[in-house]
Amino acid sequence: MEADYDVAIIGGGIVGLAQAWMAARRGYKVVVFEKTSIAQGATVRNFGMIWPIGQPAGELYQIANRSREFWLELADADVLDVETCGSIHLAHREDEMRVLHEFVDQQTHAAALISPTEICQRSALVNPEGLLGGMFSATELRVDPRTAAERIRRWLKREFSVQFHFETLITSINGKEVLSSNGQKWNAEKIIICSGSDLHTLYPEHFAKSDLVLCKLQMLRSVAQSKPLSENIPHIASGLTLRHYESFNGCPSLDLLKQRIKTESPELDKFGIHVMASQFQSGEIILGDSHEYGKDISPFDKIEIDELMIRELKNVIRLDDWKVKEKWHGIYAKHPDLPVYEEQINPTVSLFVGTGGAGMTMSFGLADKYWKNR
Ligand SMILES: Cc1cc2nc3c(=O)[nH]c(=O)nc-3n(C[C@H](O)[C@H](O)[C@H](O)COP(=O)(O)OP(=O)(O)OC[C@H]3O[C@@H](n4cnc5c(N)ncnc54)[C@H](O)[C@@H]3O)c2cc1C
Repeated sequence: MEADYDVAIIGGGIVGLAQAWMAARRGYKVVVFEKTSIAQGATVRNFGMIWPIGQPAGELYQIANRSREFWLELADADVLDVETCGSIHLAHREDEMRVLHEFVDQQTHAAALISPTEICQRSALVNPEGLLGGMFSATELRVDPRTAAERIRRWLKREFSVQFHFETLITSINGKEVLSSNGQKWNAEKIIICSGSDLHTLYPEHFAKSDLVLCKLQMLRSVAQSKPLSENIPHIASGLTLRHYESFNGCPSLDLLKQRIKTESPELDKFGIHVMASQFQSGEIILGDSHEYGKDISPFDKIEIDELMIRELKNVIRLDDWKVKEKWHGIYAKHPDLPVYEEQINPTVSLFVGTGGAGMTMSFGLADKYWKNR
C-alpha cells in the first residue's frame, strides 16, 4: 500500500519546520504534527538571535552560515522580517579584551575589534562607562521569535503544500503508521521526531540513553525605550558571554577569565548567567539569560536570577526605563558534544532533537545536511 506521505514530522518548532522545509524543497510530500494549537516551545521563547559567531570554527560555523542564508532566503521571499544587525561583544574588563584580541587574531570568524567610540556609534544601548572595546561581527541576524514559526508554517503550506495537524499529540508509531491520542492514523515512508524538550512521549527509552540534558533559561523583556531607534541595532553580548559559546574555547586567556568570574561572582556560574540584549523595532528589548541544567526543571522562576541578570546588564547597557514588561522561561534539550542528536530507530523512524541554545541558528543548516546525506 502506498503511504499517505513521504515524510511525517512530529513537532512544529523550528527544528520540525526546518526538516519540513528541507524535505519539501526536495520534492517530498510532507506532513507535520504538533500537539499544541500553536508552537509554544523554545522556538517562541528565545532571543531570535541567529548567532553564527557562537559556533566553533570549521563545519559548525559553516552550517550556521548556511542556515543564515536560508533565513535571508525567507526574508527575500517576504515570509518574515530578518534584520541583518550583526553583534557586538563588549569588553569592560582587561581579560575580556584579551580574549577578544586572541579570537580575532585566529581569523576563523568574520569579526573585527572596534573601539569604544565605534561601539557607541553602532548602538545607543551600550554603557560607555569603563568600556575598553569590543568585537563586531556582521553575520548575526534578528528575527521575531514570537511570529517566525507561524509565518514559516503558513509559507510552507502555501508554497510547498506541507500539511499541518495542530492539537494533534502523537502517542505512538507502529511501522510506517503514526497514531494520535484521539485515535487518528496516518502513514509515511519516513518519520522524523523533532519533539524538542519532550523526551518522554515517544521513544523515552532511546532518549534515556542519549546523554541529552534539559536546560531551563530565564528571560525578560523590557518596556519600549524612548531612545530614537535605528534599524539593525546589533545584538549586544557582555564579556560574560565569552565563557558560554564554544567559539571562544581556543582562546588561551579564556581560562583566566573563567577563573576570575568563578572567584569574583560564583553566583553567575551557579545559575549559568551571561547577559545579552536584543532591541526590536518596537523599542522593547529581550534580555537574558540563565542556564540551569538537569532533569528536574522547576516550574518556578527565581527572582534572584532575574535580579542578577539585571545587575550584570546594568554594567554593560543603559536603558531609559528598566521596567520589565514580561518574564518567562524556556527549556531546551542539549547534547554535550553534538549540535543535534540524531538516531535512526529503525529504517522508517529517526530522532532529530537537542539543538540546545542554537536551534534558531543551526536548524536550517542541520536539516539541509541531513537531507543532503540521503
Ligand atoms: C530562552 C531561550 C533562548 C534561546 N535563544 C536562542 C537564540 O537566540 N538563538 C538560537 O539560535 N537559539 C536559541 N535558543 C534555542 C532554540 O530556541 C532551540 O534550540 C529551538 O527552538 C529548539 O526547537 P525545537 O523545534 O527542537 O523545540 P520546540 O520549539 O520546543 O518544538 C518542539 C515541538 O514539538 C512538539 N511536540 C513534542 N512532542 C510531540 C508529540 N508527541 N506530538 C506532537 N507534537 C509534539 C511540542 O509541542 C513543540 O511545539 C534559545 C532557547 C531558549 C529556551
